Formats: sequence, structure tokens, C-alpha cells
Amino acid sequence: MTIERLRTDVLILGSGGAGLFAALHAHAADPSLAVTIATKGLIGKCGCTRMVQGGYNVSLHKGDSVERHFMDTIEGGKWLPDQDLAWTLVSKAIERVTELENEIGCFFDRLPDGTLHGKAFAGQTFDRTVHKGDLTGIEIINRLMEQVWARPAIQRLEEHRAVALVPTKDHASIAGVLFVNVRSGAFRFVEAQTVLLATGGGPTMYRYHTPSGDKSMDGLAMALRLGLPLRDMEMVQFHPTGLLAGPDTRMTGTVLEEGLRGAGGHLLNGDMHRFMADYDPALERATRDVVSRSMYAEMRAGRTTGHGGLYIKMGHLGPENVRKQFKGMVERCADCGFDLAGGLVEVVPTAHYFMGGVVCRTDTSTELPGLFVAGEDASGMHGANRLGGNGVANSTVFGGIAGDTMPRWIAANAGHRAPDESVIEAETARALEPFTRKPGDVNRLRERLLDMMWDDVGVIRGRAGLDRALAGLDDIEAELLGTGLADQSKVFNLTWHDWLNLRSLVETSRVIALAARRRENSRGAHFREDFPEPGDLATSTFTVARQKAGQIDITEQPVRFTIVRPGETLIKDQAAAE
Ligand SMILES: Cc1cc2nc3c(=O)[nH]c(=O)nc-3n(C[C@H](O)[C@H](O)[C@H](O)COP(=O)(O)OP(=O)(O)OC[C@H]3O[C@@H](n4cnc5c(N)ncnc54)[C@H](O)[C@@H]3O)c2cc1C
Repeated sequence: MTIERLRTDVLILGSGGAGLFAALHAHAADPSLAVTIATKGLIGKCGCTRMVQGGYNVSLHKGDSVERHFMDTIEGGKWLPDQDLAWTLVSKAIERVTELENEIGCFFDRLPDGTLHGKAFAGQTFDRTVHKGDLTGIEIINRLMEQVWARPAIQRLEEHRAVALVPTKDHASIAGVLFVNVRSGAFRFVEAQTVLLATGGGPTMYRYHTPSGDKSMDGLAMALRLGLPLRDMEMVQFHPTGLLAGPDTRMTGTVLEEGLRGAGGHLLNGDMHRFMADYDPALERATRDVVSRSMYAEMRAGRTTGHGGLYIKMGHLGPENVRKQFKGMVERCADCGFDLAGGLVEVVPTAHYFMGGVVCRTDTSTELPGLFVAGEDASGMHGANRLGGNGVANSTVFGGIAGDTMPRWIAANAGHRAPDESVIEAETARALEPFTRKPGDVNRLRERLLDMMWDDVGVIRGRAGLDRALAGLDDIEAELLGTGLADQSKVFNLTWHDWLNLRSLVETSRVIALAARRRENSRGAHFREDFPEPGDLATSTFTVARQKAGQIDITEQPVRFTIVRPGETLIKDQAAAE
């Protein structure tokens, strides 16, 4: 098999908020460097940054502060975040939002006095979520895309699927990335001085999920195979209000934004009872984990709607007002036959965000020299629970930092390094495996995975279910490895890519289940019904997964409280702030 070879200096995997920001910053930092964005989809049309509805958390408003945003992030994350990463996130968000408006060309909604409007988001003590109506991501990604297009020096490899991170011969640093060109089916190796992993995680292994279809945890599966440490892998965030429009539409699972609950929306069960009062005093404005768990408990008790979910109701806020505030949501619901402004919409918790990811430092560097990570592929910023509005802040803040850091790294470590050719050979053969097997039904296996992860590794977990899931994952993997493709063409063969997606999903699902089994307490998004207590906050640990010789090893490491300890706060005058 001939493998085409290309060469660049800065190679960026993914074209979401993290990838595009990194490209712009790297190009600005040193225009003499060749910067290449390689992405599985089309720039501007793929990934989740484009799907951001609610908005972007930033402490710009009078009465708010970086300290307050930080405390919300730490408390929301149940004291598991890496505090240096969380501090970088909240403090740099101010600079990044200003950059988005003043340099990138975004225009967020404003109050009559000209200041940015801050929306209420659940789990936060201040209304700090800036937005463009309820379609914030389209504004951000379109403007970023225009800026990238305006710089022809930034090269683009669209519909290029990364299949392996390739190290140098001595495995001491990164050498480049192996791709499949989805359009032609050809393999390409792109040699690079530095690589940014920004493929956006994407827990699409659950029956109900929100992320875009191009995301299948490929980045984390590749990092795992390279032996890199992955942190907080048990932490899958479920958004409480996924649309439930029946089994025959891909709209089921897509998210109805947090602002609905923030604005005063009510959740009702099948008996029309506002059940959140039975679970948490913050009612619908409790954090996502609490609301999702309460909903799941109602569903398990059978108090459900026709499709087996629950309802959200907004009409009491005035249908006209709802139509004005949530135009996009109202239209999306109407497309599926629901009247959000005046009626009831069926909803279900839906897998939304992956807090786990590659271990990194505040400058986005990883354990492997030359490899950087940003956005949803990175870990440590959110701990056990990401606050709504901190996701796009995370990808743009750390994408920009990566773009600043990589040229500096190149200046200090200049030169391309020869790849380990045996890795390129083995990974090419690995990606071609389904062409050598008897044709079978990939989609049936995917359906099994979705149900198994939802039932046994989902909102509420227990030892028996996790053991069952781990055995089930072995079965699914064995069947997948024996399943081939009927269509032997490699040109735009989407079933081949479904097969590769499923392999990444199965491998990362196993790590999720193992980390969930290891954590014998309940924090944020991770709830064990056999260990419902959170454990001692002062001795909190986080999980680290690493693959060695094909086996996954999970360890626990103590959280370092570098800025604030449990029981303390950074908010100087709590009463005045309230
Ligand atoms: C429906 C929805 C609504 C959301 N709303 C909000 C919100 O209101 N506020 C908020 O803060 N966050 C929100 N989020 C979360 C937020 O969108 C993400 O956290 C963030 O945008 C992730 O950015 P990213 O750059 O890491 O990844 P993404 O923007 O997802 O980009 C990932 C990129 O990687 C590419 N890719 C994937 N695999 C490969 C591969 N193998 N090879 C090459 N490229 C690859 C993809 O094609 C894509 O270009 C929402 C998410 C969803 C799904």
C-alpha cells in the first residue's frame, strides 16, 4: 500500500473552537511556520462548537468576578478539577471573549446600555453566560472559519480522518499523524514538528446523545494506543433535556439548551407532577448531574410520557416571550411536532459532554514532547461536572493557548523527526482490517453498544451493571473484529468509517466502564447506587487510565488543591457578592 507523505510544521487535528483558534494563534505567533488543519468533516460544518446553543461563560459583568466563576467551576466539578487548569480557563475566558468580538468579528447579544447580556445557566451563582440568541456556536464557528479562510497560508485537509498518532523511532516525541482521506480512501502520513489533538471527545456510545455524528472519541482512542495517560474517564455528562421524538428520528437525543431551565422552565413527569421538588431545593436549576439523575429515577419508576421520557413546560413564562428568547429551540421543536412556547415537549437525559481526556498542563502540553491537546479531548478543567457555558470557553481558551505554545516549542526544539515506520505499517493494516473479514452488520453492533452503555454505564451505575457491560464490550469487540464490509471500495465508504468509529467507541467505552468501576463513590456525573456518598472531599482522588501491553491499568491520584481547599472560598465578601 503506497502512503502519500506530506510535511507541515504545526498539525492541528479537528476544526472546532479549539482547532480553529489554535490555527489562528499559531499563524499569528510565527507566520513563517506551515500550519495545517486536518479534520474529519468540513471546516465550519462539523464538530460540536457549531452546535453550541446556550452560550459562553465569562465573568465580565458588574458584581461578578474571576474568583466567583472559579469557585462555581470547582464546586460544580465536586472538587475534582485541576485547579490550575480551571483558573486558566476562567481567567483567560475574559481575554478570549474580547478577542472573539474585537478581532474575530462575533457579535453577542447586548443590553440596551451596550453591555453584553449574561444568561442564567444552571449551577452558577451569577448570570454570566454570554450568547447570540440560542445559536451561539454558529456565530462563533462561522466567524472563526472566515478568519481561517482569509489566511491562505493556513492549509486545510478536509474529510481527513486521523487514524494514528505516530511517534518517533525512539518513541521520545511525536513525528506526525496517519490519516485516511475519506474522499479517496487513500492513506496519508503528515509529518509535523508539533501536533495538536483537538478532535472533541464525543460520548456518542450512549442510546441518547447530543454530539455531532463525526465525533467518536477517535482522539482518545489514539492517545490510549500511544500509551498516554487519560484522566477522569468515568465522567460522562448527561444533559437533562435531550429531545425525545421517538425511535425513528436522529433528532431524538439532540439537546434543548440549559437556558430553558435557567429561564424558569418546569420539568414534569408523566403524571404532570413537577418532580424536581422531590429531589433538590434548586429545582430545575440544580446542576446537570442532579437533574439528570432525578429524571432517570422518575423514568425507572415508570412515571413517564408516551415515549418513555418526561416533559419540559415553558408556557407559564408567556408563549410570546419564549418564542422571542428561544427562537431556534422553538423552531426545532416545531419541526418534530412539539410546541415549546405553549405546550409540552418530551425530553430525556442525553450524553452530552466528556469531562475525561488526555492529561495535560496549563500550556496544553502532554506527556509526549511535541504533542499538545485542547478542547474536549483534554481533561482536568471540569472535574466531575462541566458547567453549561464552560465547554466552548474551554475549547477557545485552550485552543488559543495551544496556538501560542506550539511555535514556542518549535523554536526550542526545531526540526522534523523520522517516524517509527513500524507504527505506520501496523496502523495502516489495523484500519484495513474490515476489508479482510466476512461482510456483516456493523449497525446492529452499534445499536447493541448504545443500549448497553445507556443501561449499565449511564446516569446511575452499579458494580453488577459495570461487570455486565465489561463482558458485553468484550463480546461486541470480538464480533466487530470478525465483521467485514460488503462494499470493498475505499472511496467515500461510510460503512468503513462507521466500523472505525465503532472500534474507537468500544475501546473508550471499556475505559469508561473500568474507571467507573474503580471509583467507589459518587461525584458529579458519576453516580454509583452501591456507593452513593461523595467521600471525603479533602482526600479527593481522580482516576488515571493508561494502556500497557494491551491491558488498561487504572490508578487513583490525589487532587492537588493548589488554590483553594474544600471548605474555603476565594470570594472575599460572599454576602456582598450575593
Ligand atoms: C448540542 C450541543 C450544544 C452545546 N452547547 C454548549 C453551550 O451552550 N455552551 C458550552 O459551553 N458548550 C456547549 N456544548 C459543548 C461544546 O460544544 C464543546 O465542548 C466544544 O465546542 C468542543 O470544542 P472542540 O473544539 O473540543 O471540539 P468540536 O467543536 O466538537 O470539534 C471537533 C473536531 O474534531 C474533528 N474530528 C473528530 N474526529 C477526528 C479524527 N479522527 N480526525 C480528524 N478530525 C476529527 C471533528 O470533525 C471536528 O472538526 C454543546 C455541545 C453540544 C453537542
